[in-house]
Amino acid sequence: MSFSDVGEKTDLKNLPLEGLENYLRGMGKERFRAMQIFKWIYQKSAESFDEMTNLSKELRAGLADMAYISTLEPSAIEVGSDGVRKYLFTLADGNGVEAVLIPIEGRNTLCISAQAGCAMGCAFCLTGTFGLTRNLKTSEIVNQILAVKRDLKRNPALQVEISADTSCCDIDEDDPSPASPESIRNIVFMGMGEPLNNLDNVIPAIKIMIDGNGLQFSNRRVTLSTCGLVPEMRRLGEETPNINLAVSLNATTDEQREKIMPVNRRYPLKMLLDACREFPLPGRRKITFEYVLIRGMNDTLQDAKRLLLLTSGIPCKINLIPFNEHEGSDFWAPSQESIDAFHRYLIDRNVTVITRDSRGGDISAACGQLKGKLLNHLEKDAG
Ligand code: SF4
Repeated sequence: MSFSDVGEKTDLKNLPLEGLENYLRGMGKERFRAMQIFKWIYQKSAESFDEMTNLSKELRAGLADMAYISTLEPSAIEVGSDGVRKYLFTLADGNGVEAVLIPIEGRNTLCISAQAGCAMGCAFCLTGTFGLTRNLKTSEIVNQILAVKRDLKRNPALQVEISADTSCCDIDEDDPSPASPESIRNIVFMGMGEPLNNLDNVIPAIKIMIDGNGLQFSNRRVTLSTCGLVPEMRRLGEETPNINLAVSLNATTDEQREKIMPVNRRYPLKMLLDACREFPLPGRRKITFEYVLIRGMNDTLQDAKRLLLLTSGIPCKINLIPFNEHEGSDFWAPSQESIDAFHRYLIDRNVTVITRDSRGGDISAACGQLKGKLLNHLEKDAG
């Protein structure tokens, strides 16, 4: 590997522990030094080498010459009446991405972004209309988490139980393990972008998240949501086993799905669901299928019946997300009657199904509909 970007210092937050060990080896240093530095960065939130007092002065100076530790502060935080906190981050090159902290029954779930924009062009998604600007680096992914942890530390009240009747991102509610000290319980890749289109950066970020010496999240509390890139799903299953997978399904026939999700032309439903069947799931873990209910598109009982058939034999739960109308969208929110009938049909057939509360509705199914709102908010502030 090259130890520094050409003519630039290396951001150590781009490296999982094994990468940091290689980096230190390249400097002629012992392996355990990498562990010390890794702990300083992720457990003690060090932002400079000067803070790393168990390293020699000579090593600290050498690191400062060749490397740095990046950080990210939110440019804006919007707080909803339901306790949802939306963070807008402005990256070094001026691109904006977002993360959203959602309190669910006293457990904070953090939705993070993997890309600035998205190339997948799902018709119901605001992020899709922006197109892809670029992939986020590993450091930009983990820095979203670290920034929110700092915010929670500054606002201790947010660490106590918050009652919120929203069921977005219902990950592993049976998991009895305690929340992390800063009270982020679950991490979900459901912000901007298609994470499987950026696996070279997402996989190291996941490794940092679940490393016992890194961010220390249990792998059962990390979920990646995809629109259904089949080969990349396989790679994810091989390289980061035991994290949770959510698949944004949203249709029950290829014809229907192609209309709203262009990815279906490459990976039609059968191929996608076969890949779901093959995805390595530990123990009693289930795949989550996200299903955005759109009026007149996919919200009939016929759709519910087909959904039941398509997912039969796959250990799964279904997240129904009533479409949230936004400016410029060509789709309509479903009626309460059709939501209830769809939900009832599945639950009567012993499917685990959750309908997301509409108060969380401005959190998009798998993407960042909030960016526009946050940018508006920033522009208003600037004006
Ligand atoms: S739904 Fe997800 S994959 Fe589709 S365009 Fe939006 S961000 Fe991209």
